Order: sequence, then structure tokens, then C-alpha cells
Amino acid sequence: MSRSVLVIGGNRGIGLAVANQLAAGGDRVAVTSRGGDGPDQFLCVPCDVTDPAQIDAAFDTVEAEHGPVEVLVVNAGITRDRLLLRMSEEDFTATLETNLIGAFRAAKRAARGMLRLRRGRLVFISSAVALAGEAGQSNYAASKAGLIGFARSLARELGSRGITVNVVAPGLTETDMTSALPAERHEAIIAQVPLGRIAQPNEIAAAVRFVASPEAAYITGAVIPVDGGVAMGH
Ligand code: NDP
Repeated sequence: MSRSVLVIGGNRGIGLAVANQLAAGGDRVAVTSRGGDGPDQFLCVPCDVTDPAQIDAAFDTVEAEHGPVEVLVVNAGITRDRLLLRMSEEDFTATLETNLIGAFRAAKRAARGMLRLRRGRLVFISSAVALAGEAGQSNYAASKAGLIGFARSLARELGSRGITVNVVAPGLTETDMTSALPAERHEAIIAQVPLGRIAQPNEIAAAVRFVASPEAAYITGAVIPVDGGVAMGH
């Protein structure tokens, strides 16, 4: 199996682990980063999801090199954590712009080719916070919860064309995004996790690999938590 795969935000962290696992399965993997740099083993293209023209250009390059994108993993995400009264309009809208509206742009561009192929896999990286909420992350949680409604709507729109749309919702995972958290914050979060530890990026990537695989052909509109049990019950 060698599909054309694009991981938006695939140069580091969870996205890089996803790219590595899909490449190990034989797929032709392209990754994006904002600077266009990334690991040598992948086709690396620049893409800032806040700019629709960059999304178009990234897809054009990937399609020219690898063919139409059959698997799109939308992993790009930012945090701008603040309590509500300290959260600026910009903190809120910038987070939605990258995490949710960026995902809309990428999915729309990918759907064009997938509809023509009559097959495809769309996978969105949400968060346990989308399900459980988190003080100081109302903007991030709103963006990640928005992804779920977005993905489930697409699952209904695109299912008849052989395209599945799923969401993976990680809990606290060891990446650049979380390395900046103070140690006591880490400990407080881990204290709430039934499995009592942080996740490794490969553990998130394994769920993405599965929903992107042919074996998962009858799974669509699912939200798959990979969170050590922290958000269970939703
Ligand atoms: P990192 O901060 O390590 O990586 C973030 C990725 O997103 C990078 O590839 C980055 O590209 C890309 N990115 C950020 N902003 C943009 C943008 N405007 N346009 C395009 N790409 C962008 O994060 P993680 O690996 O930790 O997180 C990956 C995803 O998983 C995110 O969506 C995050 O919200 C989610 N997640 C992470 C958790 C965790 O605990 N780590 C828990 C739950 C969810 P560049 O290198 O160019 O900056």
C-alpha cells in the first residue's frame, strides 16, 4: 500500500510520529511546517494554515510529486492559554484561526481530490480538553470541540464517496507544546490520569495510523481518545 499522505504540521511532535508510522507502512508521506523545513526522509512543504494561498500551494506541490492526497492528517495546533478575563480577542481568534479554520481550509482542499478518487481518509487531531474542558484553555477547547462537530458533519457529507472522517483526541503528550508547562502543572494533570503518566507521540500516532488504514474502512465520525482515560465518560 503506497498512498499519498499529507500531514499538516508534520515536522515535529505528534505530527512527525504520525508521518513516521505511515511512512513505515509504505505510504508516500509529505509533511508541512511553517518554514518549509522538516526531516529529510519526507517531502517537506511550507504551509501556514492561516493563509489559504499557502494551503493551496502545499497541495499543488504534493499532488505534483506524490499524486492526489488520499490521507490527510490535520495536526497543526497552537495554544494561547489565559483565564477568561485575561484572554484577549486576539488570543481567542488566533487559536480558532489555526486550530479550526485552518482545518476547514485543509479539509476542503483535500476533499476535492478525494471526491474524484472516491476514497480517502481525513483525520483531525483534537484533544481530551475538547471533551472535558480546562480552566485557562477556553479558546483551545472551543477550537478542538469545534473540530469534532466539523468532522462529524463531513463524515455525513462524504461517507457515500468512500471517504472516512475521524478525530483522535490525545491527552497530555510529551512534545514541544507541553515541555513549556511548569513541573507542578504537569504533576497536577498526571494526577488526574487513570494511567498515571504522560503519553508518547507514537501512542497517538498508532491511533491515527489505524483510522487511516484500510482495516478502519467502516469507522467514520468517531472520536478516539488516546488520553490514559482522563476524559472518559463522554
Ligand atoms: P507541537 O507544538 O510540537 O507542534 C505543533 C505543530 O503544528 C508543528 O508542526 C507546527 O508547525 C504546526 N503549526 C502550528 N501553527 C501552525 C500554523 N499556523 N500553520 C501550520 N502549521 C502550524 O505540538 P504537538 O505535537 O504537541 O501537537 C500536535 C497536535 O496535537 C496539535 O493540534 C495539538 O493541539 C494536539 N494535542 C497535543 C497535545 C499534547 O499534550 N502535546 C494534547 C492534545 C492535543 P511549525 O513547526 O512550523 O511551528
